[in-house]
Order: sequence, then C-alpha cells, then structure tokens
Amino acid sequence: MELHETAATQSRHRRRPAGAGAGKTLARIAAQPAVQQALAYIETNEPATQRDMLAINAIPAPTFAEAARARDYERRLKAAGLADVHIDEAGNVLGSYKGSGKGPLVVLAAHLDTVYPAGTNLTVREKDGRLYAPGIADNGRSLAAMLAIAHALRDARIQTEGDVLFVANVGEEGRGDLKGVKHLFKQRKDIKAFIGLEPGLGVDGDPVTYMGAGSRRFKVTMRGPGGHSYEGFGLPSAIHAAGRAIAHIDDIRVPAQPKVTFNVGVVQGGQSVNSISAEASLLIDIRSADGPLLARVEQQIKDAIQLGVNETNQRWNSQAISADVVLIGDRPAGKMATDSIIVRTALAAATIQGRPALLDSAHSTDANLPMSLGVPAITMSGGGASGGYHSEKLEWWAPKNAHTGPQNVLLAILGLVGVRGLDAPLAK
Ligand SMILES: [Zn+2]
Repeated sequence: MELHETAATQSRHRRRPAGAGAGKTLARIAAQPAVQQALAYIETNEPATQRDMLAINAIPAPTFAEAARARDYERRLKAAGLADVHIDEAGNVLGSYKGSGKGPLVVLAAHLDTVYPAGTNLTVREKDGRLYAPGIADNGRSLAAMLAIAHALRDARIQTEGDVLFVANVGEEGRGDLKGVKHLFKQRKDIKAFIGLEPGLGVDGDPVTYMGAGSRRFKVTMRGPGGHSYEGFGLPSAIHAAGRAIAHIDDIRVPAQPKVTFNVGVVQGGQSVNSISAEASLLIDIRSADGPLLARVEQQIKDAIQLGVNETNQRWNSQAISADVVLIGDRPAGKMATDSIIVRTALAAATIQGRPALLDSAHSTDANLPMSLGVPAITMSGGGASGGYHSEKLEWWAPKNAHTGPQNVLLAILGLVGVRGLDAPLAK
C-alpha cells in the first residue's frame, strides 16, 4: 500500500454508525456456535499466527520476485485445508473455501510482495514491545492473518453459501502496479466482493479503507539535436525545454478537495557542462481518489509539457525538440459509498463485537482495481499495531489486540458470502 492524505482527514471519517441491516445479519451469524468457535480459534491461535508472520516474512519477496514466498504460501494454504490450491500464470497463489454453491464468490486477498529489494536484511529486532523488520507489517502480518482465517473456518466447519477465494497476490507494490489483482479480475468475472488485507495504516484499531487513491505515473523524455555549447549555440536544448515544462507543471493549480497531487520526482539528462543536451527525462507522479479529477490533471500536465516544448522551439527558431510521454504506472482510482453494503458489513463486524467502527482515508491498495471495475471492494486490517511502512529500518509491528483484525475480517466475509441456514448473503 501507499499512504495518502492526512491525519486530520482520517479523524473526520472515524466512528460512523454501521447500517442496521448488515448489523442484524452479522449478529445472527456471530451468534452461531460454529462462528463463535472460529472467532475463539483466531484469538487462541494468535501466537501461531505470529509465528507464521515471522516465517513468511523471512522469505524475501521483492515485487516481480515473489516465487519463493508463493511456493511456501501454497504449501500453507494446502495445510489449511483449502481446495484447488495452485499458483496461476501471474504468480498468484489461490485456494478455495467451498460453500454450498448457492452463494456469491467473495475474494479475500493479501499481497505477497514487499518494496524491499533482494538482499535486504530481514532479521527481526525487538524493541519496546515492537518487532522491527522490513515487510513485517506490510504485508507479512496480513498474509499470516489470512491463513488464520482459513484455519478458523475449517476448524469450526463453518458451512458457507458462497465460496471464499483466498488469494495471495503478486505485484501490489510500486512498479508491480497491481499486476496480480489485474490478472485475477481478467480471469474471473464472477467475483461479487473483494476484501484486501493490509496493516492498520496509521489508525489505532482496525480501520476499513473504502477509498482507493489512484495514480498515474509517466516518464517524459525530451529529445533534441544536441551540440557543442559554443560551436552549436543556437540549437535548442532538451534540458532547457524540460525546465520550461517543469515551470508550467509547477504553475498548475488544483483544488484542496477532492485531493489531487502531482510531483516531478526525478530529473535526468545532459552529457557535460559544455554540451547542449540532446536528452532530458522527467518522472512524474499524479494521484487522486477522484478518477475524473485525476484524468483532468493528467491532461493539464501533458499540456504543460507540450507548452514547454513549443516555447523552447519558438525561442530558438527550431522544430527540433520533441517530447515522448510514456505511462509507467497505472493504478485506477475508486471509491465505495460509506453506506454501501460492503462498507456497512465491515463496520458492523466491528460494532457487533463491541469495537469502534473506523473508516480510514484513501490509500492505494489492491482494492483500487475492483473498485474501479464496479466490484464492491474494501481493505481491512490484518491486525495489530504497526508503522514505518516502506522504510527498511523503521517498519514495525506490535501485537496490540492483534486478533481483533482477523476476527472482524472473518465476520465480514461470512456476512458477504452467507452462512447456510441463515440470512441471504450480503454480497449480491
Ligand atoms: Zn501493502
């Protein structure tokens, strides 16, 4: 995941009441002895879940190199008793908890990959009750929580109506660009709801993320004739054009709400101090949870680049400068209504257990993709407290009420998929 928005925005979204319908259904589900047993299983087996977390996180899984962790996770899903456990063409690990065949297909997913490159030291350090290790929270904890849920379902022999498809997917982080879930949703058109697991994302408790901040990333390459700075003077420079383009990008004004951001993060180019540059490149990142706004700012940035090129050509009486804009990152934006069934179900899962209903601010996670396709999707917490994400020395996880995250997820999943003999599944 990637972090978005401020703590001030977060607090505005907290503690909204859950819808009554979802609450009543979940209360009936939670009252079932088998479901009580599964919830108790998760709490009792929390130490095993933490051992799984450490074992999984000890296997390196940089984006695009998740295969070793995937094979290990495949073995773990088989041991949890899931059906049809396999690794797909994209590298995702899948396994099914089979229902009666009369209910909707609901996906529970956690990404396998981490932002840390091969060779990163994954040793765990313990300090002040926190476990420090790269990837331990994002997403080691979530992968372990997902296993705990699979074990709990089987241990309690819960009979669901729909199937729960467990997915440990590749390519969520960075240049992975949601590769794993993009493949999943290309293959399966019958998914009725999607819950992704991530660490608690900066909110104390187990927040529900219902807004997916999308991002579009570009590499812009300016090209020109090049030449000697003295002999060739009068020829247009790619770096000078890039400078004009950046100035025009910097002038773009955006609204405070809905939030949209843009950034020129990397500039490269030139050969030497006495060469007119033949090439310059920019890396640009644009983000928003508002899809149309994201598209509008993208167009403004492209216009600013073209303006910079035109002005440079005009200034030097030339046509020689051109700009090539290549999309290098594409995470669609998406948003669920706060009164949508899936959000109400997830919040009710907390409230009927006497826990606060917490809504989080926008994040960029696997759930973005189904949201953008119109499939109900949210991100829930794998449990525990955490912080320092994406920072090799700072990422930590602590076992504060760690079982409550997976317990909430279990109840939400059961509500969506339906339990045999009770209310109709909430996912349609
Ligand atoms: Zn993540």
